[in-house]
Amino acid sequence: MLDKVTAKSAMKTDTTEIITSMKRFREPPVRPHAGDVAIVGAGLIGLSIAFELASRGATVRVYDAAEPAHGASWAGAGMLAPLTETIKDESLRRLCELSLRAYPAFTQAVTAASGIDAHLRLDGLIYAAFDSATRDDLLMRAERLQQRGFPVRTLDHREAIAFEPVLGKRLVGAILMEEEGHVDNRRLGRALSAACSALGVAVKAGAGHVRVKHDQRKVLGVWTDDGFFAAGVVINAAGAWAARVEGVPPDCVPPVFPMKGQMLALALPPALIRHPIWVPDAYLVPREDGRLLIGATVEDCGFDSRVTAAGIHVLLDAALKALPVLNDFAITETWAGLRPATPDLKPFIGATPLERYFLATGHFRNGILLAPVTATLIADAVEGQEDETLRLFALQRSQPEHAHV
Ligand SMILES: Cc1cc2nc3c(=O)[nH]c(=O)nc-3n(C[C@H](O)[C@H](O)[C@H](O)COP(=O)(O)OP(=O)(O)OC[C@H]3O[C@@H](n4cnc5c(N)ncnc54)[C@H](O)[C@@H]3O)c2cc1C
Repeated sequence: MLDKVTAKSAMKTDTTEIITSMKRFREPPVRPHAGDVAIVGAGLIGLSIAFELASRGATVRVYDAAEPAHGASWAGAGMLAPLTETIKDESLRRLCELSLRAYPAFTQAVTAASGIDAHLRLDGLIYAAFDSATRDDLLMRAERLQQRGFPVRTLDHREAIAFEPVLGKRLVGAILMEEEGHVDNRRLGRALSAACSALGVAVKAGAGHVRVKHDQRKVLGVWTDDGFFAAGVVINAAGAWAARVEGVPPDCVPPVFPMKGQMLALALPPALIRHPIWVPDAYLVPREDGRLLIGATVEDCGFDSRVTAAGIHVLLDAALKALPVLNDFAITETWAGLRPATPDLKPFIGATPLERYFLATGHFRNGILLAPVTATLIADAVEGQEDETLRLFALQRSQPEHAHV
């Protein structure tokens, strides 16, 4: 971890750097042709990069060992919530905010190319307290965020109930993150796959465990179950499996590891709950069709992706304690996914020591949120545009010795 002095100066540099990126984000430069690109992994990260690069004129192929957008990107809750998530690292929080701001234009472009609406909703996320200690913590947190200019509002009981009637009599207080929200990540996955196809991207499902081929200096392409495909650029977007992508030099392997998350869904009447609600030890995220997602555990148990009795018990216990009104609704689905975690909880975005081999992985709890900004940063890097922001997310940054979550 950074010591205090380094952290302070890093924060200053981060601010300048990310503001520069934000300006560029609003005024995209004229793009040169990006060449032939192979992407390993068709999650939201790989597909967003493919969509961005193809929009800029590159020839792109995406290879997935399984189905596109069926890994963590399918398992996630789709919350877009950089403030609620309490991200301690300033550079990561700013990157998340940048991506949140890019979301409306991103989903609009994906919908225009695919005809599929990903149901983006950025009309607030509520954090609810059911005892006075939690309420006091929330109020302090809201005050700190307000002092820094963030759009956070405290709600009294009447206002909170007006916002989400389901919160009920036991509610003691709540805060509202006014500009946060959610996207239906499964619909976004389908939309991105269709948008990529519409732009001529070849998305290959069941390609086997894709391996990278390189010479002394640079990448040459990828090996799949269907043989070798030459590519001038290879991007590792293999999520929790990114460290297992074979064929690259040891100093290009990112220290990414899986962190399991379990969730379940209840069938509610549509619009009974309209905004994501955080309660102690769980969050609830509504979908347009009436499903209510309840998540999520964070478990360090390797590549085990089973749904367990204990995992579901913990989530239901937290949700029903907060909202007993949920007791009578049917459970329609349980599932688990593997988040790509890193020792310092920051993603790896950018170049590696192997020429033309890039990483876009390790997005941990915020990969759905970070998809638009990751796509832009990687596409810029592939086109050879230097971006100072990438230094903060480079593979070569120093890492703490042990993972901590
Ligand atoms: C329960 C849960 C809740 C979450 N909630 C949120 C949330 O609310 N908001 C948010 O922003 N984020 C959330 N996340 C995190 C987010 O889902 C992930 O950070 C993000 O989806 C990672 O995307 P990805 O494309 O890197 O990985 P994935 O979606 O896992 O995609 C990686 C793909 O790579 C493929 N692959 C792996 N190895 C190879 C290989 N060698 N060859 C070919 N293909 C390969 C896999 O088959 C997979 O399809 C959540 C995650 C979980 C599990």
